[in-house]
Amino acid sequence: MEIKSVGIVGAGQMGNGIAHVFGLAGYDVRIYDISPDAITVAIGTIERNLGRQMARGVIKAADKTRTLGKINPVERLADIGDTDLVIEAATERETIKTAIFEDLLPHLRPHTILTSNTSSISITRLASRTDRPERFMGFHFMNPVPMMQLVELIRGIATDRVTYDVLHSVVDSIGKTATTAEDFPGFIVNRILMPMINEAVYTLYEGVGSVQSIDTSLKLGTNHPMGPLELADFIGLDTCLAIMNVLHDGLADTKYRPCPLLTKYVEAGWLGRKTQRGFYDYRGDVPVPTR
Ligand code: NAD
Repeated sequence: MEIKSVGIVGAGQMGNGIAHVFGLAGYDVRIYDISPDAITVAIGTIERNLGRQMARGVIKAADKTRTLGKINPVERLADIGDTDLVIEAATERETIKTAIFEDLLPHLRPHTILTSNTSSISITRLASRTDRPERFMGFHFMNPVPMMQLVELIRGIATDRVTYDVLHSVVDSIGKTATTAEDFPGFIVNRILMPMINEAVYTLYEGVGSVQSIDTSLKLGTNHPMGPLELADFIGLDTCLAIMNVLHDGLADTKYRPCPLLTKYVEAGWLGRKTQRGFYDYRGDVPVPTR
C-alpha cells in the first residue's frame, strides 16, 4: 500500500514539525487544529524553520516553496478523513484523542491507517475505540521533529504486519530512523529517559548537588549534550510529571514514584522554558538556576 496523503490532527509543537517533515518529503499534507490560531502559528513556525534549514544549506529556496505548497490547513476535522495516513498529535489527554478518532471514523477511507503521536497513552486502548485496531499504531516523533532522527513505532496488541511495514517504509521515506517498541508504559525512550530525569530531581531534592553541578556532571561526565534538568525544562515539567505518573500507575512499581520536588515545581506553574521558569529562570539574558 502506498501512502501519498497525510492528515495531521493538532498543529502544536509536534504537529507543525510533523507537517514540516512530511511536506518536505513530498507528501500531500492536510493539517487541522481545533484552534484556528494554532494553525496560523504553525504555518509561521514551519516557514521560519524551513528558512533556518535554508540558511544552514540543508535545503534550497525551491524546497522551501515546494514544501509550503504541500501543506494545506483545513477547517474541519472531516477534511482529514480522505487521506491515506492520519497522525493524531493533539493535546495529551485521552478523552480528547478518543473523541477525535470517534469524530473521524465516519469520514475515513477503508484503507486509511490511523496513528497517534502520544508519549504515554496506551495504543491498544486508543485502537480499541476505533473500527480498525489492526490498522492503528503509535507513531512517536521526537521534539523538535525536523532535527531529531528517531521515530518510535509502537505496535498495539492488534496491529497487523502490513500496517507496521507500511509505517516503517514511511519513516525511511522521510529520512528518519525507526525503532520498534511494544505497547507498554513509556515505550522505550521515555521508559529510560524519564526515570533518569526524575532521579536528577531527587538528587537536587536531597541536596546531593545543585542544579548547576547536576547538569554539568552529566554533560561532562557522560557526554550528554544537555543536562537532565535543562532537558526537563525543555520538555516541560508538567509533561515529565505526567509521564512519571503513567510509568508509576502502569508498571505499579515504587521505583517510578515522581519526586515531590518535581510535583512542587508543577504546582507552582514553573513548567520550564514554556513558562520562562523551571529549574532555570529564562527571563533574563542567560538562564539562571532556581535552586
Ligand atoms: P501542544 O500543546 O503544543 O499542541 C497540541 C495541539 O492540539 C494544540 O494546538 C491544540 O489546540 C490542539 N488540539 C487540542 N484538542 C484538539 C482537538 N480536539 N482537535 C484538534 N486539535 C486539538 O502539544 P505537543 O507538545 O505538540 O503534543 C502533542 C502530542 O505529541 C501529545 O500527544 C504529546 O504527548 C506528543 N509528544 C510530545 C512531545 C514533546 O516533547 N512536546 C514529544 C513526543 C510526543
